[in-house]
Amino acid sequence: MEERGSPDGDPARNLEQGPEGPETPIQVVLRVRPMSAAELRRGEQSVLHCSGTRTLQVSPPGGGPDVAFRFGAVLDGASTQDDVFRACGVRRLGELALRGFSCTVFTFGQTGSGKTYTLTGPPPQGEGVPVPPSLAGIMQRTFTWLLDRVQHLDVPVTLHASYLEIYNEQIRDLLSLGAPRPLPVRWNKTRGFYVEQLRVVEFGSLGALMELLQMGLSRRRSSAHTLNQASSRSHALLTLYIGHQTPQQMPPVDAGELPAGGKLCFVDLAGSEKVVATGSRGELMLEANSINRSLLALGHCISLLLDPQRKQSHIPFRDSKLTKLLADSLGGHGVTLMVACVSPSAQCLPETLSTLRYASRAQRVTTRPQAPRPPKAKPPQHLETELLQLQEENLHLRSQLGQMDPKASGLSGARAAWAQRNLYGMLQEFMLENERLRKEKKQLQSSRDLAHGEQRILAQQVRELERRLLSACYLQQPGPGPTPPCPCVMVPPLLCHAPPLLCPRCQLCPLCRAPLAHWACPRRELHLPQVFGSKAPGDWPLSARPPPWAPPCCPSSAKCSRERSRSEWTQTQVLAEMLTKEKVMPSAPPLPAGSLNASPVLRGGAAVPNLARRLEALRDQIGTSLRRGRSQPPPR
Ligand code: ADP
Ligand code: MG
Repeated sequence: MEERGSPDGDPARNLEQGPEGPETPIQVVLRVRPMSAAELRRGEQSVLHCSGTRTLQVSPPGGGPDVAFRFGAVLDGASTQDDVFRACGVRRLGELALRGFSCTVFTFGQTGSGKTYTLTGPPPQGEGVPVPPSLAGIMQRTFTWLLDRVQHLDVPVTLHASYLEIYNEQIRDLLSLGAPRPLPVRWNKTRGFYVEQLRVVEFGSLGALMELLQMGLSRRRSSAHTLNQASSRSHALLTLYIGHQTPQQMPPVDAGELPAGGKLCFVDLAGSEKVVATGSRGELMLEANSINRSLLALGHCISLLLDPQRKQSHIPFRDSKLTKLLADSLGGHGVTLMVACVSPSAQCLPETLSTLRYASRAQRVTTRPQAPRPPKAKPPQHLETELLQLQEENLHLRSQLGQMDPKASGLSGARAAWAQRNLYGMLQEFMLENERLRKEKKQLQSSRDLAHGEQRILAQQVRELERRLLSACYLQQPGPGPTPPCPCVMVPPLLCHAPPLLCPRCQLCPLCRAPLAHWACPRRELHLPQVFGSKAPGDWPLSARPPPWAPPCCPSSAKCSRERSRSEWTQTQVLAEMLTKEKVMPSAPPLPAGSLNASPVLRGGAAVPNLARRLEALRDQIGTSLRRGRSQPPPR
């Protein structure tokens, strides 16, 4: 005995619970209609036997082996409409639709197998005559249950309905105000496939919904043929749209576009039929071909959806209008329930077996149920920035915390606390010391600036005094004939150079009597021992000390001092050679005192006393010269 079954063993769990994981299988229930009076009259035998609530046994005539099929639920011919409603799990789908899921119930099977009966009950007995409540199908019962459920919800719910049929591959609006006309099927990213310009009617009561249903049923195409006196010639889709937003919160939508929310769609498929068996001719045959073609496309999509590699394979939902509109229910984010309908008659066995195999495969198809998410309002820019900053700070603090983790640092308990306290204390001390050093540095900088200023003033005074001294000496020099111009005057002083200092001993050149620097004097070797003896210069009176060599200079530049010394030396050498008319090979001029690498502050500070001493020495020299000038006869 062959057995085909559902992938899940617990029907209650299958039918009454919500989607548990990322993928959920299509739920399939089987309904076996009772033998019709005509079939019994013809003496046809039943080949189907229910075994328990979930298994169907097929006993082929002629003694072949039985075949068993397992579904979520199996309902035999004795089952009432209410039994089917309660067992099929449609209320679970209704609950999911209220939570925002997109749910679909569709009937499937051979023509005359009871699909329309299962969904909407027997065909109306006349215009405006309602179906007796006991025979009402899944749809009417679900409407009643849903409206009752909605009334007991805390949140306000908006309800809309649309009803269409696919007849000869054309979509017709069964609720249109005028005569139905073909409508196009469109696709976009958010809505998937949808019917453009479909009339969607809001309703607020069960009565209003029932009226819409009756209106659609009465406009739906049906014809009589051998197997069914009221055979549906089209696939019909009635959709309920359940919205939770109040009108104030509802965003403006385009005409015909529905607010995001749950959906519950009932699909009554036209039955597959053998044209020979139904005796269809002309228009009936044309309709049968359209129906069969779209059912074939549906079967093809289901086969491909069962392929384990289906993620890579293309599912041809676009092959028919029916598969386009069922695409979300079969392979998308919907929740789907299939009610497979079969006839028990032995005459229908091949179609019944085909339906059973088809339904068995369908229950292995899975979908990924997903409720539409309401779009999140974007937070204001400043809040977003603040959020980012806080996140960064949080990360930083976390990393610091990780570093201070006693386990991570190998410390524990009180020791860690002590270390943290100590670290904190050290940090505070460092901060204080840093502040103190910063103040000290500022003070040193200001005193250095003061010293520089003072040095500049003194240097200027020195230059001025030297200039005055030179001119005084030159004016007082007696000699035969016209006095040649002073070489110091002839040699223009360099920009920041003072004139060379006079020799403290003779002050005037012995040859030309012009004022000379001490180191430029040809007799300078004789001067120092005679004048100063063996005494160190530091012990001499200030007026008798030789002026320090270091010329006034840019205080912060050691390079400048060195260059200036060299250029002054050149200047003096020229002066001496002019005077002596000989080549002068002097000893090297003394370099300025102090290391070149010494800090500017110290060098500047040391230069100031030097300059002061030079200034004093110059004053003394000027005084001496003036006194000597007064005691000598004025030049002619
Ligand atoms: P389908 O829609 O599959 O072509 P229908 O629903 O029109 O078939 O049913 C065909 C006939 O069988 C109808 O006259 C219907 O009243 C009858 N029928 C179907 N199922 C049942 C049932 N469970 N109990 C009683 N009559 C049924
Ligand atoms: Mg039908």
